[in-house]
Amino acid sequence: MNKNFTMTGVMGWPVAHSRSPLIHNHWIAQHGLTGAYGLFTVEQGNLADAIRGLRALGLAGSNITIPHKVEAMKYMDWIDPLAQRMGAINTIVVQADGALHGFNHDGFGFIQSLLEAQPTWRAEAGPAVVLGAGGAARAIIVSLMDAGAPEIRLINRTHSKAQDLAQELGAIVHPVNWRDRDTALQGASLLVNTTNQGMQGEPALDIALTHLPSSALVCDAIYIPLETPLLQSARERGNATVNGLGMLLHQARPAFHAWFGVMPEVTPALYQKLRATLA
Ligand code: NAP
Repeated sequence: MNKNFTMTGVMGWPVAHSRSPLIHNHWIAQHGLTGAYGLFTVEQGNLADAIRGLRALGLAGSNITIPHKVEAMKYMDWIDPLAQRMGAINTIVVQADGALHGFNHDGFGFIQSLLEAQPTWRAEAGPAVVLGAGGAARAIIVSLMDAGAPEIRLINRTHSKAQDLAQELGAIVHPVNWRDRDTALQGASLLVNTTNQGMQGEPALDIALTHLPSSALVCDAIYIPLETPLLQSARERGNATVNGLGMLLHQARPAFHAWFGVMPEVTPALYQKLRATLA
């Protein structure tokens, strides 16, 4: 690795929309470090070569995003056990001896974003309802389990995927049929949307919140728009809400720490900078 200049970035396809350069380059400047974070457009089929290139080019590592988070695991010399359970990596750290280590910080980002929005929030408080069974759901469910959630109701449009994931992750994850999603909210203390429904260009998530306790925290992994129709209806009926921006910001912190040796903070100024790009 080049000792004078620390280079990292994100590999994905498409990747031009990624806000990660803004986040990491903000921290590099804030801490007076010498380095840069770039965008690497890596099409499917080129991932193995691109990852091998990290070492050859002397990079500190990289983030991995859609669609490579699962395939990238194949090319690691070591994978953090948490990332193994999540079944995907979002960060590669090149070690001093050139070994490639894989991590997944999405779950960390999710839990930190909840605590930032509501410092008294505790996973132990009651059942969580997770909508969706894709990559984001896996990371969020594992992190909720580790944080002490007593029960996780997993609801996915394709029920077999919820069943498979529940079987893989353990007995506290209960698959619930998509058609029962409204009543499954009864007694929940947390509701998380990890589907793409409500994202810009997609229809709103089709769910009625009538059975959801008003004390429940409602989260959406989506951050474009910042307030999805789900979050809007939750807010209007008095539930506290958290959008996906905090998850995006907080997942970046441990990666930055691994590459640059500084644990950065998510400040109001950084939020403001990011929000300005989403307006
Ligand atoms: P993914 O693996 O492709 O999963 C997508 C999920 O959405 C699946 O469960 C899928 O259900 C469901 N879905 C798709 N169309 C649907 C519909 N019409 N009705 C109901 N459910 C539908 O995607 P992902 O990587 O988990 O990402 C999911 C969301 O999380 C995206 O909006 C992404 O932007 C967001 N995300 C945010 C962050 C962050 O840092 N804030 C990080 C990661 C992801 P089926 O199984 O039935 O297809």
